Amino acid sequence: MLLLKDIYHLATMNDAGDRLAGVDVLVEGNSISRVEASIDPPHGAHVIDCSSMLVLPGFVNLHHHFYQTLQRNVPPAQNQKLFDWLTTLYNIWEGLSVDAVRASTRLACAELLLTGCTMASDQMYVFPSGVHEELIDVEVEAARELGLRFHPTRGSMSRGRSQGGLPPDSVVQTEADILKDSARLVEHHHDPEPFAMTRIALAPCSPFSVTDSLMAETAEFARDKGVLLHTHLAETADETEYCLKTYGKRPLAVMKELGWVGRDVWFAHGVHFDSDELALLAETGTGIAHCPTSNMRL
Ligand SMILES: [Zn+2]
Repeated sequence: MLLLKDIYHLATMNDAGDRLAGVDVLVEGNSISRVEASIDPPHGAHVIDCSSMLVLPGFVNLHHHFYQTLQRNVPPAQNQKLFDWLTTLYNIWEGLSVDAVRASTRLACAELLLTGCTMASDQMYVFPSGVHEELIDVEVEAARELGLRFHPTRGSMSRGRSQGGLPPDSVVQTEADILKDSARLVEHHHDPEPFAMTRIALAPCSPFSVTDSLMAETAEFARDKGVLLHTHLAETADETEYCLKTYGKRPLAVMKELGWVGRDVWFAHGVHFDSDELALLAETGTGIAHCPTSNMRL
């Protein structure tokens, strides 16, 4: 139990936008059980004097690639546009190891916690052959160790260059392997209970690195298991051009046809939508994770 005592200023972020002063907050297990003027410390509770502190709910991070924390300063990728940046880094990611993923996850979780983020999603989508069974398990372990509420997404790439995709064939997997590992991760790690510390979502990487059949089958599988769906969409003009050329449709129309709109779907970036597409997203309750720093750079 945790008791936050005599809070100087509490920003509740509730629907009414209430801000309270001089109150106590009691946390039992994973949830806030009481917010009152004065709460006597229950036996064994860890009490923090908050008389000079501002208290607010933890931030939630909707899109991240923890493993990329180790390649933030690689020239010439730093100054490249998305497709060139990816093409440069795929060559490094080919050699991604379990140790690198463990170290980058610890670093990313520590950075998030230090900035007030208490819950994060992550998209791990590069599984070089030989280590693909372990990478998300290693992330789950590291996030638990650091105490971050964690919703890792099982990313995937199935459309290599030989099938008209952007990534080299060496970093893509077969659809059968991806679906098998997705099922394993949901079975082992997904906790559907309220306030769960670990939940799995499924996240084929993008329309230019994933086959249509994998997108459609992933959606069907996720709905059967009651887990959420995530992917990159409408991030750059190059992607719109790729979709028009490959599918004869804009990115959101492609995803809609594959069953990828609804309250159980959230897209990363969502920069290049037109008004009709925004209306469709609103009608269907589809979520968008804007990524301002990355989007500004692109
Ligand atoms: Zn991303």
